[in-house]
Order: sequence, then structure tokens, then C-alpha cells
Amino acid sequence: MIVVMKPDATAEQIDHMESHIRSLGMSPQVLRGTQRTVIAAIGEERDGLVEALEPGEGVERVLPILAPYKRASSELTSERTVVSTRGLVVGGVKVAVIAGPCSVESEEQIVSIAVILKALGATGLRGGAFKPRTSPYSFQGHKEDGLKMLATARDATGLAIVTEVMAPEHVPLVARYADVLQIGARNMQNYQLLQAVGDSGKAVLLKRGMSATIEEFLLAAEYILDRGNPHVMLCERGIRTFEDHTRFTLPLATVPYLQEKSHLPVVVDPSHGTGKARLVTPMAKASVAAGADGLIIEVHEDPEHAMSDGSQTITPAAFSQMMAMCQRIAEAVDRTM
Ligand code: PEP
Ligand code: MN
Repeated sequence: MIVVMKPDATAEQIDHMESHIRSLGMSPQVLRGTQRTVIAAIGEERDGLVEALEPGEGVERVLPILAPYKRASSELTSERTVVSTRGLVVGGVKVAVIAGPCSVESEEQIVSIAVILKALGATGLRGGAFKPRTSPYSFQGHKEDGLKMLATARDATGLAIVTEVMAPEHVPLVARYADVLQIGARNMQNYQLLQAVGDSGKAVLLKRGMSATIEEFLLAAEYILDRGNPHVMLCERGIRTFEDHTRFTLPLATVPYLQEKSHLPVVVDPSHGTGKARLVTPMAKASVAAGADGLIIEVHEDPEHAMSDGSQTITPAAFSQMMAMCQRIAEAVDRTM
């Protein structure tokens, strides 16, 4: 339920409504706007709630939250969420760029690419230390050693570290090194993991499951928000369809659609979304044109010899060109890069 308070509602009236909402078995979230305060009552929307809330002093009106995802819904607030950690700001006028290799391979590799990417305008450094691989025989990542290498690259550049966490019991470890915890597509519906990253309070990049609907995607975000962690970014990374000319199908209508339904920022991953290096720049351009708040791009100095996802990984030279083209598109849609 959304309890809209009158513009002149007093602090006592707002406090009273908060405790009244709690007494009804719901969780209050107070949103203080410039004109008036709105209190979201989060929980199951059941009959009788409007009647229980509307007579409260200072209450102007009570509306149901129609979406099943309550905290993620744009019905709650017209203000857009901006996720900010170190120099990485996602959701503002500037389109954020997170770039780096699929996997952290060595300290030398990650520091070298980080320095290059920083100079080319990235504000986040990606790199997997715990890798979700389709085959158990493929490289699984350097794990804690990889996290340490990422921390060294951050010390060298100041870039915010974005790295995947695959299991709830690893969240404290990964959170010690990372600035942003990435939830991979294969784990989008791992609810215990979502709750654990919610509890960590760290910024989270939530990737869309490859067969998840938008409603399921937003309900996964809801699990994180419901633990009191508002720092959530949504990432469209492509879905599985009958189509096989690309690794996944990258639906960009998702970007404006998510921005309509939710206040959370939207990042696009054209690397996993296409699986082909030559398609990354065109789809990055299209993502910016569609209004993406950020991009996440796989970049490696020697993609042919990358330990994972080389075929969808671009070189620093290609990344530099991509940035220049995307900057022009950003301007055309009233953004910067
Ligand atoms: C990745 O970012 O390297 C990754 C494994 O992505 P996804 O979970 O989207 O497949
Ligand atoms: Mn990858």
C-alpha cells in the first residue's frame, strides 16, 4: 500500500502511521519528497488495508501497489535510484562503463588492463574470480587469489571492482574485496544468495536469468531490496531463444520497459548478450540509444588467448572506438559518457 500524507502532515503523524503499519504486520518505508511524505507499507496486499490506513491523521489517501514487486516498483517513487560506489555512479546523467576481462587471470593482466581502461573512461573494473562455467572442466577462476588481484588493480587505478559471488557462504569474503557484488544469470533465482547480498549492504549488479521474465527479474531484485539494501542495478544480458546466430538474444526493449516499471538503474551487457566480439560495439551503441544507464563490456589485451569468453571479448583499441561512438550517441539522448 502507498500511504500519501498531506503536505502539512506532522512528524508525529508520520511516526504514528509508521507504527500503525507495523502493527498491521507490514513493513513501513518512509519516502520524504520535497512536497510531501509518502509511506510505503510493504507486505501482502490484503482486503481491509485501505480501510485500516485511510482514517489515520495526516493521511491524504491510500493506494494499492499494483506490481508484485513492491520496493522495486516505480509506483513507490518518481525519483530514480542512483547506485554510487567509489567513482562508479550508475543511474545519473552520465552513462557508466564497467569493463574488464571475463576472468581475472593474473595480477599482471588485471592491473595492466585496469590502467588502460581507466585511461579510456571506464569507472568500473569487471573480472571474475569465482566463475560459473557450463563445464566443470573449464577454468573455474582464481577465487580468493583472484579477489586479491582485483584489489591490487583497484589500488593502482581507483576503479570500483565488480565481481561475481556464486554462493551465500562466499558473500563475506567477496564483499571484503569487491565494491559491487555481481549476481550471475545462472543465480538470479538463488534466493538465499539474493538475501545474503541484500544483507551485505554492498552495491549489487543483478543479471537477468537467461530464461527469466521481467517480472521474475524484478522479483529477484525485490529479494535484495527487501533486506534493506537499496543499492541494486539491473543488468540485461540476453535471454535464450530459438535464435542461434548469437550466443543469446539481447532484447533492448527491456531497457525502457524496466525504467518504466522500476526506479532501479539498468545496465546492458552486449558481450554476453551477443557472444560475438564484432557485435559488441553496435549493440553497445544501441543500448545507449535505448537509454541504458550503464554498460558492462568484456575487454582483454589478447582476446584470442583469454581463459574464458574470448570470442565475445574486444581489444582495448576496439573499446576505445566503442567509447568514442557511444559518446556521440549519449549526447543525442541527453546523456554524457
Ligand atoms: C560474466 O559476467 O562473466 C558472466 C558469467 O555473466 P552471466 O552471468 O551474464 O552469464
Ligand atoms: Mn564472461
